[in-house]
Amino acid sequence: TVYHETDASTDPLDGDTVAVLGYGNQGRSQASNMRDAGLEVVIGNRADDSREQAREDGFDAYPMAEATARADVVLFLVPDEVQPEVYERTVEPNLGPGDALVFASGYNVTYGYVEVDPAVDVALVAPRMIGAVVRELYEAGRGAPALLAVHRDATGEAKSRALAVAAGIGSTRSGVVETDFETETRTDLLSEQGLFPVFAAALLARFEVESEAGVPPEVTLLESYLSREMAHIFEKCATEGLVAQMDLHSRTSQYGQLLGLEAFDREPIREFMRERLAAIESGEFAEEWTQEQAAEDSRLDRLRRQYENSAFVETEQTTLDAFGLREE
Ligand code: NDP
Repeated sequence: TVYHETDASTDPLDGDTVAVLGYGNQGRSQASNMRDAGLEVVIGNRADDSREQAREDGFDAYPMAEATARADVVLFLVPDEVQPEVYERTVEPNLGPGDALVFASGYNVTYGYVEVDPAVDVALVAPRMIGAVVRELYEAGRGAPALLAVHRDATGEAKSRALAVAAGIGSTRSGVVETDFETETRTDLLSEQGLFPVFAAALLARFEVESEAGVPPEVTLLESYLSREMAHIFEKCATEGLVAQMDLHSRTSQYGQLLGLEAFDREPIREFMRERLAAIESGEFAEEWTQEQAAEDSRLDRLRRQYENSAFVETEQTTLDAFGLREE
């Protein structure tokens, strides 16, 4: 089911207080949108620059425990890695029967790292967009598409409240797809673990092949993505379509692209994605990541160092400087 503006409004939250816990990427944008939509919004954040920012932006901002206690609906917008600890320490003791806890990511509920009291509604409103753009779209009269799910309906109102949140952040102006927590988790993690690595591997492979063939590395990198031509092509794919946007390219380019696509064997990529998806679905990835986060020198840190010190990234960084491509 897909919900649009005509299917939902913020009415179910009339008279309610919505707490946004975590005034970060998503928190700041979602809070501002909901306030503009007429909802009563308070912020919960630890005492630091972010809480000050919330106050400067005109919100009442409290410690997370207090914001939770004041609210009927709580949006839990701290990073997934810290949610279990923050939940146990500050959120759980302050949630009352009939409150609603709304996530923007299915991860911790899917894997059981956050287990919520049965008297509390548990829902998901997950924009498919980075926080800054969630706000920009709203200000432009549009909205970020989102996924919505209900994990527990304790009050009988969980879905209408989640839809009201989606309307408040502007997502129903675009489209809100109803799904479940597990599906959101699977597709989100497979973007990260399946799709992005395939893009990155293609960039690395091209770099390696053109290096062997004597193409200057900065030329390869500008051609690949540093010139932003690729980013513009993806923009056009998102607004016109993968094939339709080809009209913007020469016929030589179109023929070359489609010929290459025909020649490419996708089965190894399918197999790679099936393996990743299996580890996501079995919980093997989540378990490994939980252990890694507790490690001294985690595998994440080691892998980052390995790629930061690669010829590819070193060339990329010098090219960014040499061509003045960094954003101020
Ligand atoms: P951020 O990294 O922007 O962090 C949000 C807030 O969490 C910050 O205000 C930060 O506070 C606070 N925080 C971080 N660590 C702690 C801690 N140990 N204790 C207390 N507060 C802490 O998060 P995002 O906005 O990126 O993500 C929030 C949720 O939204 C996640 O569930 C994420 O999966 C989901 N999401 C994110 C998207 C994105 O584009 N980023 C897209 C869709 C969903 P302080 O500023 O004080 O450090």
